[in-house]
Amino acid sequence: MASELSKYEKIIGYQEIERLKDQARRLKGITLLHVNSTSTGGGVAEILKSLVPLFRDLGISCEWKVIRGTKEFFRITKSLHNSVQGVGGKSRLTRDMAKEYQRVNRENAKRLGLGADVVVVHDIQPLPLVEAKGTNKWVWRCHIDLSRPEREVWEFLHSYVASYDATIFSVPEFRQALSIPQYIIAPSIDPLSDKNRDLSPQKVRELYQKFRIPKGRPTLLQVSRFDPSKDPLGVIEVYRILKERMDCQLVLAGGGAEDDPEGSKILAQVMEEKRDDPDIHILDLPPTSFLEINALQRGADVIIQKSLKEGFGLTVTEALWKEKAVVGGKVGGIKLQIRDGENGFLVSSVGEAAQRVEYLFKNPSQAQKMGKAGKKLVREKFLIARHLKDYLNLVSEITSS
Ligand code: UDP
Repeated sequence: MASELSKYEKIIGYQEIERLKDQARRLKGITLLHVNSTSTGGGVAEILKSLVPLFRDLGISCEWKVIRGTKEFFRITKSLHNSVQGVGGKSRLTRDMAKEYQRVNRENAKRLGLGADVVVVHDIQPLPLVEAKGTNKWVWRCHIDLSRPEREVWEFLHSYVASYDATIFSVPEFRQALSIPQYIIAPSIDPLSDKNRDLSPQKVRELYQKFRIPKGRPTLLQVSRFDPSKDPLGVIEVYRILKERMDCQLVLAGGGAEDDPEGSKILAQVMEEKRDDPDIHILDLPPTSFLEINALQRGADVIIQKSLKEGFGLTVTEALWKEKAVVGGKVGGIKLQIRDGENGFLVSSVGEAAQRVEYLFKNPSQAQKMGKAGKKLVREKFLIARHLKDYLNLVSEITSS
């Protein structure tokens, strides 16, 4: 049977694969563990699903473990998450919240087994696990937008971050005043996953039919968890402005993640805002809707990611890979991916977004040209092999220091 990695040869080339194998050989015997807070839904799970098997294929012992938590725990961590990103209103961190956050992590630390040579902890939810650190190396991989964290909450989290051996951020502007090394590693997509692999136009049509979305009308799509930082209500405003100028339809595709308790509240707000407009399609998808999202992205004319804060925005990468011009909020990791006027547009308001989407709807050949530029950028910078290489470099550096 072909190795997992060899399947990527036609995309990244033989030499790149050999380089990865060579790098991995030098790390033989090292054990690696990733810990996060959900096995499905959201960008972190999406990345680990592809990355972990590839580490193993390279002969590195790599495990992925998921912490468990109470409803209250995930409510607390979502509120910390929102405060750090500065969205969803100001929240107060009480002593009881801090205690529950710590208690759940201590329980998980006992249950999980955290003795790998290198432990990579993803995001805020499992951050306090570091209390269980021994002589092994611990890395905190932060996926969220840390451009302007709320001070009080960041100071609280910092007390844990400081115990790590290193951090990884997605974007240079997220760096903080820390006394430990800060690596900058951009996330990636897996071009061979069901989410991103090629699909026939027939399959795309079939899946549009399944969702009762008519093809042949200008279609604007946003794929995102229903979350205030993704600004789904702002996307509806964009659509309403467009609708006064031309015929079009809007698809908002989202779903929940186990570690995100806010989804149903935001979904309810979005449903209310839709009113009885039949041209707004709101899809609440199960977390395994990989082919469905792939097809929705391929069948859309323009893709929007109108985030107000964004750690990276894999949905932007996925859209660019499918040769779609993307209109994205001028924030966080989206700025790494959209080159304004080349592969899409960066926007800072509803009005600006509507103007850019209208331009792309009305200039399909320009949109197509931008889409091609987008795919080229993703091929060069945001595919999984590059991500794997960055991790191997980091593991090599951190275990030899
Ligand atoms: N996603 C999904 N189903 C949904 C919404 C999102 O599978 O209903 C996927 C999306 O395709 C992408 C990831 O979840 O792969 C979201 O990653 P991103 O970095 O855009 O945002 P996050 O949710 O991590 O903030």
